[in-house]
Amino acid sequence: MQYTHKARCHCGAVEFGLYLPSGLVDLRRCDCSMCRKRGAVVTSIALNGISVTKGEDKLSLYQFNTFTAKHYFCRLCGIYTHHQSRSNPQQYGFNVACIEGINPYTLGEIPVMDGINHPADR
Ligand SMILES: [Zn+2]
Repeated sequence: MQYTHKARCHCGAVEFGLYLPSGLVDLRRCDCSMCRKRGAVVTSIALNGISVTKGEDKLSLYQFNTFTAKHYFCRLCGIYTHHQSRSNPQQYGFNVACIEGINPYTLGEIPVMDGINHPADR
């Protein structure tokens, strides 16, 4: 697959390609118990729209609560890269700040999703 964006963790051990034909849309934060600590700006992508091109063995998996979502992070630098969504397992969410050249603090106002009342908990 051809990727539109290249992304990496902080230390560079993990690199991944993203296919975002519409660019960066539907950016959000989330205030669930994990995201409020993680603080990342995320958006969604199809499962086949993301491919780890380097350092797959450097990714660690973190799961909690219902153990449905899969949260991946670089085990060397600790940076969250992407996660398989609980509300839609056909999608990944990913850390927008991992994209080369992106500073999420310059992207304007970003809505906070109500992760306390997660759709899968209602
Ligand atoms: Zn890293």
